[in-house]
Amino acid sequence: MKVFKFGGASLKNSKGFQNVAALIKEYANEPLLVVVSAIDKTTNALERVVALAQSGKDYSSILKEIYLQHKQISNELGLEADIVHQNLETLVQAIASKAETKGDYDFVYDQAVSQGEILSSTLLSSYLQASKFPVQWMDARKYVHTDETYREGKVNWTQSQASIESLKEILQKKIIVTQGFIGGTTQNNTTTLGREGSDFSAAIFATCLKAKSVTIWKDVPGVMSADPKRLKNAVVFDELPYQEAAEMTYYGASVIHPKTIKPLANANIPLWVKNFDDPTLPGTVIHDCKVDKLPPLIVFKDNQCLISCRVTDYSFVNEPQLNKIFETLTQKDVRINVMQNSAISFSFCVDFREPKISKLIEALSKNFEVYYNTDLTLITVKNYDTATFQQYRTMPGVMLEQSSRSTLQVLVRN
Ligand code: ASP
Repeated sequence: MKVFKFGGASLKNSKGFQNVAALIKEYANEPLLVVVSAIDKTTNALERVVALAQSGKDYSSILKEIYLQHKQISNELGLEADIVHQNLETLVQAIASKAETKGDYDFVYDQAVSQGEILSSTLLSSYLQASKFPVQWMDARKYVHTDETYREGKVNWTQSQASIESLKEILQKKIIVTQGFIGGTTQNNTTTLGREGSDFSAAIFATCLKAKSVTIWKDVPGVMSADPKRLKNAVVFDELPYQEAAEMTYYGASVIHPKTIKPLANANIPLWVKNFDDPTLPGTVIHDCKVDKLPPLIVFKDNQCLISCRVTDYSFVNEPQLNKIFETLTQKDVRINVMQNSAISFSFCVDFREPKISKLIEALSKNFEVYYNTDLTLITVKNYDTATFQQYRTMPGVMLEQSSRSTLQVLVRN
């Protein structure tokens, strides 16, 4: 069997839904499980709904937009008579009460924001059914079991394996349509797996079902050596070893979610990245292979924050002090993207996620003099050559630079 994953950009209009049906028809040719994200920018819109609802502000216009966009797609797909179409308003209204729930913010976020995937998968499964595909809609929350870390649910693999395996029988007869990004706790609460987590969901299902392959259908021709919107001469890789792809995602390449590769590599399941609009393009396969000479790979990671902790008592930065910094980072659940130390200060760069980073800075300030800069971009050049090494180190606005035998990283002001 195979797993296909379609992201929000592919499902942004009725043409996208029609294309999904065409791709399933043409490329599935064996049992198939389909994982979908929320359509278009629905997750961002739902995040705004929760933020407004939680601060007692009006969010009705955003919710209405979400409703109208789904309704338009449903209309254009000819689903007016469909029960889903009729229930669309009820489904969207349910989001309001979830977003207004009083309680832990991250918990509320997951209950409400997860509805984007419920909507998209419901719509897709209705459309496929109307198009005479044998389809079964499935609630991922009953199969992807997680702990209670809301917004970053940690998967319980043993439990998930047992539940997901039970889908094998259904897959013999039907195409399963399910949600990416979401999971469920033993208390039947909804969790999410972290933004852009649908790729990871596809990997979870594929691993537990021992799938033949996973295909992520994207709006790019495959995995590229840089973001083509930023670098015109970016090239598409035909194939990549798992390790190389995993490192790319670590440095911030957004083409695949960072958690996706590991389970697939362990189970030796190939991951295809294929173009949604032109499936005849070869795409990229990430699998167990050796590639002799890869071209330099350039990853841009925006919205970075450089934090420097200075010791205040004329001593040098020592291990116990570093320990304090790392303990605080662990407590606040913040990941370092690059770090460097000097005699009296330790600097590191993190994703600038408010309010998490403000809380981190506040905590660090108890022991150190803390300075920080925002609006920075971390550029990683992996497998650099002489030309790219020179080009990126000498860029204007470099605030921090670090290189190893194969990788150069520069943090630059925007
Ligand atoms: N819809 C979620 C997001 O936008 C998950 C995903 O797209 O993978 O983050």
